[in-house]
Amino acid sequence: MQTEVEAPMAEPLRVGNGVAVSGVRKAYGDVVALDGVDLRVTAGEVVAVVGPSGCGKSTLLSLVCGLDTPDAGTVDAPEAALMPQRDGLLPWLSALDNAALALRVGGASKKEARAAAHSHFVRFGLEGFEKTRPAALSGGMRQRVAFLRTLLAGRPLLCLDEPFGALDALTRTQAQAWLAEALAKDPRTVLLVTHDVEEAVLLADRVVLLSPRPGRVMSVLDVPLARPRSRTDRAVVELRERALAALGVAP
Ligand code: ADP
Ligand code: MG
Repeated sequence: MQTEVEAPMAEPLRVGNGVAVSGVRKAYGDVVALDGVDLRVTAGEVVAVVGPSGCGKSTLLSLVCGLDTPDAGTVDAPEAALMPQRDGLLPWLSALDNAALALRVGGASKKEARAAAHSHFVRFGLEGFEKTRPAALSGGMRQRVAFLRTLLAGRPLLCLDEPFGALDALTRTQAQAWLAEALAKDPRTVLLVTHDVEEAVLLADRVVLLSPRPGRVMSVLDVPLARPRSRTDRAVVELRERALAALGVAP
């Protein structure tokens, strides 16, 4: 059973304000990563950004998180917590201390931070692995520790950069179900980057399709489907095929 310390996550719906990206351009030297990108995420919405490798998805997240500034255009976003493309766990810290890191950075004592992080370990399937170092965790567990850390940062906006990109198909399916469940229990505004169209349709309220570099918004698909969703639902399959067609990939 979960002990109810439930620090930041137990507060009611903290979805903050939405995200508004307008006319954004970002280049690295001669490489134009993004050009003329417009994107809206309404508070509480899960928006997935899908596009081929190198089209500027990670760049877009770093702009939304305020880690970098656009060359042109504007980015308006609430405080965000970023789950980076590589899990970003510190190899010398235990799973518990990695999960608690954002709370520590936010000023909590070691004891408070550990207690708050630990209160989620059962729900995140991490019980018994508190003292384990990242290298000894499975890929799925590392992703869950990284996600818990992102969630515990207590920011209204979560920016998730290919959170399941490194997982095998089975673990990935489980991780998607578990993310959907975590967001159902603790709603946030989410910008989810993925190269997996099916993952986008399973998890998002809207799917934004980016062109090859320089990334531009090619189309936006609404996903007005009830949750939980299954990859075998007819509507999910249809939307997935529409998205693939829009990306120019034969389903
Ligand atoms: P994606 O996440 O969609 O794969 P990225 O945003 O990582 O794409 O990168 C977009 C393009 O910008 C790529 O061509 C990449 O090589 C380039 N790029 C990204 N970050 C930098 C950087 N810090 N310096 C130079 N080039 C970069
Ligand atoms: Mg990337």
